[in-house]
Amino acid sequence: MSAVDKAEVQAIDKRHYMPVFSRYDVVLSHGDGPYVFDTEGKKYLDFLAGIAVNVLGHAHPALVAAITTQAGKLIHCTNLYYTEEQAKLVQTLAQLSGLDKVFLANSGAEANEGAIKLARKYAKQLNADRVEIITAENSFHGRTLATLTATAQPKYQHGYEPLPPGFKYVPYNDLAALKRAMSDKTCAVMVEPIQGEGGINIPDDGYLQGVRELCDACGALLIFDEIQTGMGRTGKMFAYQHTDVKPDILTIAKGLGGGVPIGAILATDKVASAFGPGDHGSTFGGNPLACAAANAVLAVITAEDLPGNAERIGRYMLGELAKLQAKYPTVIKEVRGKGLMIGVKLNQPGREIVNRCLEHGALINCTAGDVLRFVPPLIINEKHVDEMIGILDKVIDNL
Ligand SMILES: *Cc1c(COP(=O)(O)O)cnc(C)c1O
Repeated sequence: MSAVDKAEVQAIDKRHYMPVFSRYDVVLSHGDGPYVFDTEGKKYLDFLAGIAVNVLGHAHPALVAAITTQAGKLIHCTNLYYTEEQAKLVQTLAQLSGLDKVFLANSGAEANEGAIKLARKYAKQLNADRVEIITAENSFHGRTLATLTATAQPKYQHGYEPLPPGFKYVPYNDLAALKRAMSDKTCAVMVEPIQGEGGINIPDDGYLQGVRELCDACGALLIFDEIQTGMGRTGKMFAYQHTDVKPDILTIAKGLGGGVPIGAILATDKVASAFGPGDHGSTFGGNPLACAAANAVLAVITAEDLPGNAERIGRYMLGELAKLQAKYPTVIKEVRGKGLMIGVKLNQPGREIVNRCLEHGALINCTAGDVLRFVPPLIINEKHVDEMIGILDKVIDNL
């Protein structure tokens, strides 16, 4: 393959890539800030950001420099040795979260898988029957066998039975149902502070506090899955920081490396002490290249107050979307979000609008069938929002 030919790329993919993704009709080539370009030179405003991953946008100079420098020094060396980059990252994450100990993984699912293992190991020290993990309907926790079982949506589980035992589901945002489900067999409750894949579902004020109180009363651990909500996306570094609640275990991934694969489990000293040498591990997890990337991302998020920007621009975007809803009340049912994690619930399936936005030069996606999802880079300004709203307006007008 010499010059990039769209049809050829698509033909090779069809022949050799396992058919698990329904891809959009575009071959991407490179990016710059909140924009990406396809192989034919067409420019797109990227309000999906690799699904809440490219928090600094594309080709951010600080991230490029950190990766380039680190690649020339040490990409990988196994966790049998210390590195300065890893030490710096775990210290920063502990400071930012108020938690004590960190384990570094390579993805969100892997972070959650490790969090479930840690919770089981911790709870079993106290009581051998405390094995149940309670999760919420419409959650998303990953694609490994344990995390797709934690993901209380049958569509992700179908065909993979038998699923590992010890998982129980309750409706999201329903404290009474959670209370009924808890017992002296409850090991942990794992929830997203805002459900992402489930459709940008924001719980009522007081829900996370209520979950914390129920966990404390029951003696169960509280795990927050902030793989999508973390890294400044909702207007705070972590979404739980909008409340006075702290989890026992926190998982993060998506935005952490700005696109370089890395995930993390954070926990209190007390819970983390359940892990000893040999109890968990990873070949790649927390290698110096990924850590250097994450350190650079965190430095920019902090120096440029990107959570504050997400809060401000998110509020502006919600206002502009509300105007669109008023203009197209038969198409748009509800606009909801926090910071730059925004969902537009439609009265129809979302796929057509997503495809037409692509034609008009904007990347978004649709989740839960009828919710347009906007999770742009956190570096955007009002002008980018205006551009996105203009495209959406045109697309809906032409439906
Ligand atoms: C994306 C996501 C995951 C899974 O992350 P992967 O890196 O795809 O394994 C888990 N939980 C939440 C809330 C997510 O948004």
